[in-house]
Amino acid sequence: MPLKQPARPKKAAAKKSVKASLAPERIAEILKLLHEAYPDVVCALHHTSAWELTVATILSAQCTDVRVNMVTPALFKQFPTPQAFANAPIEDIEAAIRTTGFYRNKAKSVQGAAKRLLTEFNGAVPKEMDKLLTLPGVARKTANVVLGSWFGIAAGVVVDTHVFRLSHRLGLTQATTPEKVEQDLMKIIPRDHWIQFSHELIHHGRQVCVARKPRCADCTLESLCNAPDKTWSTHS
Ligand code: SF4
Repeated sequence: MPLKQPARPKKAAAKKSVKASLAPERIAEILKLLHEAYPDVVCALHHTSAWELTVATILSAQCTDVRVNMVTPALFKQFPTPQAFANAPIEDIEAAIRTTGFYRNKAKSVQGAAKRLLTEFNGAVPKEMDKLLTLPGVARKTANVVLGSWFGIAAGVVVDTHVFRLSHRLGLTQATTPEKVEQDLMKIIPRDHWIQFSHELIHHGRQVCVARKPRCADCTLESLCNAPDKTWSTHS
């Protein structure tokens, strides 16, 4: 009697479903529907310069953009330039950003970034990913936000908590770290969509595809989504 081989068909089916999820036509449809739903969406963090956006993005770690936007007007009034941040007593920066959480580390990062800008980059935020990554407190997410939203440079895809969650729900990746998710998205999303795609996905994650109980009945992507935690579905 031949031995049973249950694993093979399962693996094959999983491979087929991943392949189907990444089909260029499906990706194009996701991009089209997102853009139709959110044609004008931009970065939610208020800023008037690359430096302000860098600071705001550092502050947004583990904090809502709404909270950051409440803090930054007074912060930039008190410390209007990188020089002002670099020369300030660290306790003053800590006090000004306290409500964003993790304020000691964030104050250290912001002041460290200001000092490095002054010593290495003539006080200007660099436009290159590798240089941005040398600023204290700046990892790929922050660098991608600054490059995309201020300079209009598509060096990568912003992967925040929303992009991470939605990319999995939409079957665009199975990766377990933001860095690997970004690599996967860069392979399947055309480069000229990288900046807008992340803005739109972040907005969709805030408004509709929320972490708990996603609002699938109101979702523009519902017909294309097979997420296991869907709350409503038109297809099996
Ligand atoms: S159908 Fe539901 S789970 Fe899928 S993207 Fe839309 S809101 Fe999220």
